[in-house]
Amino acid sequence: MKPKIVVFADLDGTILDERYKFSQTQPIIHTLLNLDASIVLTSSKTRSEVEFYRRHLGLKDPFVVENGSAIYIHKKYFKTAAFTYTKQNRQYYVIELGMPYSEIRKKIESIQKETGTNIIGFGDMTTQKVAQDTGLPFELAQLAKAREYDEPFRIIEGSENAVVDAIKDKGLCFTKGGRYFHVLGNTDKGKATTILKDLYQQEFQKAVTIGIGDSPNDFSMFAQVDKSFIISDEKSSSSCWQEIIELTKIMQN
Ligand SMILES: [Mg+2]
Repeated sequence: MKPKIVVFADLDGTILDERYKFSQTQPIIHTLLNLDASIVLTSSKTRSEVEFYRRHLGLKDPFVVENGSAIYIHKKYFKTAAFTYTKQNRQYYVIELGMPYSEIRKKIESIQKETGTNIIGFGDMTTQKVAQDTGLPFELAQLAKAREYDEPFRIIEGSENAVVDAIKDKGLCFTKGGRYFHVLGNTDKGKATTILKDLYQQEFQKAVTIGIGDSPNDFSMFAQVDKSFIISDEKSSSSCWQEIIELTKIMQN
């Protein structure tokens, strides 16, 4: 029996290039979909942003937002796999693993006071400023600011170690994406990956999981998949994707 191939894919620096374009990876995604692989976007981005790219890439598979803070599963997606969800809307069941954004913002305030540091997060920035700082077009910067759990931030003044220690002391998670540090509840991409991996195994008996990403916030995801592809200075995104296509073809034969 052919296994179900599930690719857990980061967005920034993995599907998207440094200018947030996906023209290079779009044909690769289509090839993988034609090979009957599932592509699970697993990103630090918000639900609104991930939905934007998912729509443009023609993806129907579940997706993970804000560094593992929530999993979105289309209501008709799994036929037999059973799971509990924390909320639902018209289209999706949602498994929330993160802490609400308003609480994260309060924690950041106290961390700044306790450590005498100066931190600037997306919540402190206007949409214009987020657009400027990230290089995102204004409309996408608006979606990036629609945060529900995780706060991307920079340290303007003070020690990174002090901030990291304070985050950990509060039982929160800290991670590094391509451009920003992130603070979020006690979750990560790996936790979300484990839950989805189990659902795919329930649904398809045999599922092979692959992870592709480029930053430290992908490491927890890599730890949970059968095979990882780590984009680096030595190994480009396109060569990683080509290897995934080859591997998928071999397993589908
Ligand atoms: Mg990335």
